[in-house]
Amino acid sequence: MVRFGPAGNAEAFYAEGHKHTYEAAEWLKKLGLSAFEYSFGRGARLKEETGAKIKDEMARCGIAVSAHAPYYINLANDELEKNLQYFRESTVSGGYMGAGRVVFHPGSMGKMKREQAFEKTKENLATVMKALKGEGAQEMIYCPETMGKINQIGTLEEICELCSLSDALYPAIDFGHLNSRTLGSIKGKQDYAAILDTLKSGVGEEKYKKMHIHFSHIQYTAKGEKTHLTFEDEEWGPFFGPLAELIAERGLSPVVICESKGTQANDAALMKKMYEEAL
Ligand SMILES: [Zn+2]
Repeated sequence: MVRFGPAGNAEAFYAEGHKHTYEAAEWLKKLGLSAFEYSFGRGARLKEETGAKIKDEMARCGIAVSAHAPYYINLANDELEKNLQYFRESTVSGGYMGAGRVVFHPGSMGKMKREQAFEKTKENLATVMKALKGEGAQEMIYCPETMGKINQIGTLEEICELCSLSDALYPAIDFGHLNSRTLGSIKGKQDYAAILDTLKSGVGEEKYKKMHIHFSHIQYTAKGEKTHLTFEDEEWGPFFGPLAELIAERGLSPVVICESKGTQANDAALMKKMYEEAL
């Protein structure tokens, strides 16, 4: 099954008078969606009681929940204990609301050389995964994300290599980010196919088929990602149509999260429609 859903609550959700995330479950179901990503971008603190309400409603409506870990995680630096704590908090708070996946940004180069920053990221991620699994986070899947700025860790190849560190690491492929950091290289179906082929040989069949996907149109500069757009955009892309065809043709079962600015739920529904038309 391919799941589609938004990252966070869309503007339309609030415009219709809703306030609380647990109310999103029914709202998303009505749009035909079956995934939701909750952002812990500024910190993973969710009350157990709030989480339980979200968990119950989402489960009742058949919506798979994922959590986005804090943006300030940076495994390329020396603050291992702090980073581990952010992963712990994301795991616990994510667990409250029944999240099966935690998506995270691996790190940033800072003043280091890329190779050095990546080695550090790998070393720290291995330690973090070992610690989390030792502390009982057996069920949780962690998804390192391809990143949109060139100075961030998170090329397609780097994400594949990070995923090899643990069975619990699955790739989060953000196609808008990949397009931004390669200054617009995703133009058509064969560009998507090349990414999927690299991913398949890099992480193996299982993780490839069940990958996490982030999708939005993104404006970029010479340094990479600049601004998230909506599907109204006809200039920047990347465009979902060819990827929808490949997901259908190859029988993939990803969770596809839309990160359009404000219209993420409606755009997720549009992606679902494109996918169904491609089937
Ligand atoms: Zn992200």
